Amino acid sequence: MMETKALKTELLCLGARVPGLDKGRKGGAGPAAGGMFLFGGTVANVPTQSWFVSQSPYSVAAENGNYVIMRDGDGDGEQITEVEFPHAKFQALKTEDGIPYYKIALLHGADCLATTTIQTCVYWNTPKRCKFCAIELSLKSGATIAMKKPEQLAEVAIAAKRLDHVTHVTLTTGTTPSPDKGINYLAKTANAIKEATGLPIHVQFEPPKELSMIDVLYDSVDTVGIHVECFDRAVLKELAPSKVEIPFQHYVDAWKRSVGIFGDCQVSSYVIAGVGESDASIIAGSKLLAELGVYPFITPLRPIPGSMLENAKPPSPGRMRYIYEQVAEILHDEGVSWMKNKAGCVRCRACSALSDFE
Ligand code: SF4
Repeated sequence: MMETKALKTELLCLGARVPGLDKGRKGGAGPAAGGMFLFGGTVANVPTQSWFVSQSPYSVAAENGNYVIMRDGDGDGEQITEVEFPHAKFQALKTEDGIPYYKIALLHGADCLATTTIQTCVYWNTPKRCKFCAIELSLKSGATIAMKKPEQLAEVAIAAKRLDHVTHVTLTTGTTPSPDKGINYLAKTANAIKEATGLPIHVQFEPPKELSMIDVLYDSVDTVGIHVECFDRAVLKELAPSKVEIPFQHYVDAWKRSVGIFGDCQVSSYVIAGVGESDASIIAGSKLLAELGVYPFITPLRPIPGSMLENAKPPSPGRMRYIYEQVAEILHDEGVSWMKNKAGCVRCRACSALSDFE
């Protein structure tokens, strides 16, 4: 029987075919075009729409009203495990002025309410756009609205907590042209949600020009994500030209200041594997993060349909397993764990299997 952590890694890298089931969404800033799979006590955001999914040995079949993950093999294939798909009741509601709640925020993972507060990015129509990103695609397709008002999000959060037992919130943003990089709007939004629900809140942003700008989040935010994406600066230059313009030391200073404000294990950074970097770069970079008390949220590349990397291939499950094993040991040595984290991607853990290897 395949271990849960190995299966999750396979599904994150290879995706799963879901014939006849409409699971997943297109676009979005985070790893989109996937479906949330709940199995074996974990949750995975599994690609279901990217080009490589048709080649995956994994599929989902319906059986007596339940769903099962299947793996191709001789004959009909092998049943691997039962799987459930979280269903969010709040997403069927509308605001008084007729905006569907699903255009304002979505259920991520098992119990996280997530949204992109500002769905536009200053880099989108420029050569500096991050190649993995699809932030404005979901806007174009009408799946979301450009700017979510704090009071709209508070309203949705109240419903999500009441109807779907959501226990934490993730807020991300496109980068704004202002020096705060969207932090002030995140703070305003987080204040409104906190006041309405008391839920733990995670926000994500680029390091602002003045690091003291982060302090405004102290009152209402519990955890933050400041995403380096890749430690190999030559690779990062190709992948996310805007990010490479920010000196690495500025990231380090932003992480340090944030750990000082929010505490150990409450600061995280996405690290994307499979964009041209070496294993050593991810492992050494993750060690540096862990030593600072920052959680390295390592995800295999997610080639989102419509993004500039839509035709790329995620790294192999074998490579990801190796990286996860090495970094899990480092986390253990440094006393860093997803279990100490209060809100956001690290607590949700659908997009990375690192927590499952800890
Ligand atoms: S890990 Fe983050 S981006 Fe991924 S599903 Fe969870 S909240 Fe969303």
